[in-house]
Amino acid sequence: MKRIILLLLGVAVLAGAALVKPIPAVKTVKVNDRIYALLGPTELPNAHNAGYMVNSTLILGDKGAILIDTGFSDEIGAHIRNAAEKITKLPITHVINTHHHGDHTLGNIAFPGVEIISSENCKKLVEDTGADWIVIAENAIGRKLPNTKPVPASRTYASQTHTPIEINGVKMELWVPQAAHTKGDLLVWLPDDKVLIAGDVLVNTVTPAFRDAEVKHWVETLAELQQYPAKTIIPGHGPLMTMKDAMAMHKRMAVFYAGVDRIYKSGGAESDVRKQVSLKDWKKLKHFDEQMGGNINRTWLEVEATNF
Ligand SMILES: [Zn+2]
Repeated sequence: MKRIILLLLGVAVLAGAALVKPIPAVKTVKVNDRIYALLGPTELPNAHNAGYMVNSTLILGDKGAILIDTGFSDEIGAHIRNAAEKITKLPITHVINTHHHGDHTLGNIAFPGVEIISSENCKKLVEDTGADWIVIAENAIGRKLPNTKPVPASRTYASQTHTPIEINGVKMELWVPQAAHTKGDLLVWLPDDKVLIAGDVLVNTVTPAFRDAEVKHWVETLAELQQYPAKTIIPGHGPLMTMKDAMAMHKRMAVFYAGVDRIYKSGGAESDVRKQVSLKDWKKLKHFDEQMGGNINRTWLEVEATNF
């Protein structure tokens, strides 16, 4: 009898586990002795991945660890925290957000008492749009996230600054460009490691999202970024990159922007972009079909506003 009850209990536990899908595992890539890239899936957010899609970076200092980007919800934040705790016993003392988008910031709530760092504009955008990003996450994954709340940064850096700082004995430079993927991007350069953490200013194998971008400034930022002698680049989404990959993205973006600009100035229409700008290189990227129409529209509106 006891056996049957245990067996039934086992079946019930298995059935319960099948209902709550596990979040896809964090893919840990050791960059060097103190830097770990925690890579997320490259699918768009959905019920299966629970919105887990971001790349995070864990940096081990002398007295504590620094985590860059925290995921799309409290659950994803805790999932990334668990992965970090498997790598180090050091407490996470600082979180850095590369920009305000929910997939990078809504996990901040899983790090209570931790100092959160971002650009000034990112902080403002988290305050202004954080609630909207929760709705975006909930719609994408098909359920409510009652414990997710936006947590803006407590320490910020102004636009168009390069600031050398040291946290837990780790030297880094925080670079806030004028604008790129968003109006509040922040890139982290680790001079002693020659590692650049780029947020979504660089993405690899996936189509970049232009929804909040300033495309012209993004192209300029991608040119400026090549001044860093980076050996390894950790993008916001997709596998690790080299400077050669970053240069390829710069070229793709620059050619695209110039093409849209040329069509506008010669009196063409937005619908000409698809016909006259080569999208051959873009078509190889994941999520082209879902993202590229919006990207063309965003660029067209920017070019129109600039030339009006
Ligand atoms: Zn992102």
